[in-house]
Amino acid sequence: MPRSQFAILALVALATTAANAEIPATRPMPSPLADMAADSVADAGSSIAEPRAAAMAGLTGDTVIEHGESLDRVLSRLGIRPEVRAEIAMAFEDVYDLGDLRPGDVLNWKISREDPGRLASLRLQVSGGVEIELSFAGGIEANRIDPTMITRERNEVLVLDGTLYDALLARNAPGRFAVDLVALMAGQVDFRRDIKGGETFALVWQEDALPDGTIAGEPRLSYARLTIGENIYELVSSDPASPIILFENGTAVQRSAPPIMGARLSSVFGNRKHPVLGGQRMHTGIDFAAPIGTPVNATGAGRVVFTGSIRGYGTTVDIDHGGGVITRYAHLSKISDALRKGSRVSAGDQIGAVGATGLVSGPNLHYEVRVDGRPVDPMQDEVMPEQETASPADLALLETGRARTGFDQADRDG
Ligand SMILES: [Zn+2]
Repeated sequence: MPRSQFAILALVALATTAANAEIPATRPMPSPLADMAADSVADAGSSIAEPRAAAMAGLTGDTVIEHGESLDRVLSRLGIRPEVRAEIAMAFEDVYDLGDLRPGDVLNWKISREDPGRLASLRLQVSGGVEIELSFAGGIEANRIDPTMITRERNEVLVLDGTLYDALLARNAPGRFAVDLVALMAGQVDFRRDIKGGETFALVWQEDALPDGTIAGEPRLSYARLTIGENIYELVSSDPASPIILFENGTAVQRSAPPIMGARLSSVFGNRKHPVLGGQRMHTGIDFAAPIGTPVNATGAGRVVFTGSIRGYGTTVDIDHGGGVITRYAHLSKISDALRKGSRVSAGDQIGAVGATGLVSGPNLHYEVRVDGRPVDPMQDEVMPEQETASPADLALLETGRARTGFDQADRDG
């Protein structure tokens, strides 16, 4: 009988949280001419003197946006007239939010030869390979050029002899998978106790790259396999927002989804000082801070056994997963329209939205797991959820993952 836990349900959300990293991007170096041109007018301000403005006529250069700098300020330093700057800002409006400008973004500019208070061309290169080009023939028009991403699949088979994190980095694989995988397999594997060295870890993932090879966005894990002694644990995920299904020795044991995406874990299970009532009180679940209206999803398949308001919890949904396991979602701003007592839900189905109902200090999702009526720590305690059935799509992903990572009879025999 495969052993499984609801622990992963909460941890999936943790893993999701860890995924919100900034995208690194390479920057072209400004040309020497650019520095010279920018420096020559750096302290001139917007009231650039006529002779110097004339000296700028026809000049080209690159300016790297510095901390706290705006496009308007850069253009002002170059001696561009206020009404032209306003027109440029308006042209940007349709294609790019200038509030998103970041240090390191690069402006390529050319001052008009005939009128040094105007531009002949302007191009902005921002992170993620996006470029905005302005044309000055007649009225000013902006054109946004998004880079063509190349999606590529990678796979690795690692032998653990230290931490999973180090093993991933040694193969130039995303280090964040260490957080994801430990979390996703927490129901089956205690990494501190069960990993002794020599275990194999196989992974398949997809990543997007810019034409210059820079990785953009977050890598997407589609298959992972951990072999510990005679036991083989595998997980497959068709896309990051979908439930992840876990297999133990080839049998589907659980499908789970994070209760919320992109949220921050703001309070854990156990005794704590109550944010509203004060004093030490038992916290019967875990909290995720997120804006009001953020979708809340069922973490596993089950049947809705309660929708309504409960004192302290506010607007609440309870889902029965069988085997005495109930998950509770509280402080909601709304419950999904079609959801009623008795409704069947699948892992990942939206059941409501984050709110601030009940006793709260701010908008958050309170996620609770109860076994036989007793709240347990979703990140620690073992509970038995419903048995899971793998779909043909899940099995196809499993087979693909196995084929890519050389899963053979030796693995099957342990
Ligand atoms: Zn709570």
